[in-house]
Amino acid sequence: MKKIALLVSNEQNKKLMTDMLSDRYEILALAPEDSLSKQFDLAIVDGVSLDLLQVKIKLLKYESNPVFLPFLFITTRQDIGYTTRYLWKVIDDIIVTPIEKIELLARIEMLLTTRRYSVEIKNRLEEMEILAHAIGHDLKAPLRSIETFASYLKQDCYELLSDTHKDYLERILRAITKMNDMQDAIHTFMSVGCKGIVKQTLSLKYLVRAVLEENDIILDKTGATVTVLQDIQFNTDEKLIKLILKNLIENGIKFVESGKRPVIEINGLRRGEYTIIEVSDNGIGIPDAKIEEIFKPFYRLHTDKEYPGTGLGLTIVKKCVDMLAGSIKVVSKDSGTTFILEFLERR
Ligand code: ADP
Repeated sequence: MKKIALLVSNEQNKKLMTDMLSDRYEILALAPEDSLSKQFDLAIVDGVSLDLLQVKIKLLKYESNPVFLPFLFITTRQDIGYTTRYLWKVIDDIIVTPIEKIELLARIEMLLTTRRYSVEIKNRLEEMEILAHAIGHDLKAPLRSIETFASYLKQDCYELLSDTHKDYLERILRAITKMNDMQDAIHTFMSVGCKGIVKQTLSLKYLVRAVLEENDIILDKTGATVTVLQDIQFNTDEKLIKLILKNLIENGIKFVESGKRPVIEINGLRRGEYTIIEVSDNGIGIPDAKIEEIFKPFYRLHTDKEYPGTGLGLTIVKKCVDMLAGSIKVVSKDSGTTFILEFLERR
């Protein structure tokens, strides 16, 4: 990571910088437009080249996303005001002439370090995507085979088995269901937000209805009711907010005392610049001391026998809330729990 493009029109400045930098870096000092078409890790650009090439630079930065392609602007003190409209859009940092070599090197190294980190993050994201795909698809195939053959055994030989062997078979089938649920949850967790965030104005009522329709949320079997008390229109990413609502509604229905009819109430409010969404249930509640813990991966307060689950539902909720730059609070009593979501409404 050592290639620097000099997009500098003033020949004297170009020579000065080449002298300062060529012992440490590989310097591209062609005509600015030609340098831009080559591969480099950082560009130093002056006012004349910036005016000429700003559209191309913007495009190049966009194309290299999520890898950071830094542009360091070189300017005189008189022209420094000129940079404000470009700063953090086209250029990432400024250096004022006359240049001190040590300052120039420090800025270059800082920008190159940031670029290096962004490459690492991109590589990690790609690995995550491969892993998420393996969990969501490749591991599913052998599990499906186990499930198919175990269910053939149950169908064809169940009556021939001793009670002990029937119990073994039932345990295998339960473990398969658990494994399927875990794979789905891990795949969802790893894929959250992979495709970026697309915000649009949506109504809470629409979202709740869609979540209930799109997911097999067991309203009939449990007699649960899900009601939107007050609708609200807000700016959000449909996929992320649906995942949040799905997990909170499912938990509200699941974590009730046996035999009790679950009642879920959802409320939309506007408080100043914030959209508030409250999801309340009449369930078993969460002890105050555990409220911080429940968002951690695989953390569960109950055994599978009491309440089945993966321990990833609220971790997924938290990840979605973070991606939407929101916050989540929990208020819980013995008579039920309210999850309070808060999002800054940017118009
Ligand atoms: P899961 O539902 O798969 O167990 P979650 O991550 O969704 O995992 O929740 C973590 C834990 O938090 C649950 O096991 C449960 O103990 C507690 N919890 C979550 N939501 C509620 C709720 N609405 N009421 C009571 N307890 C809850």
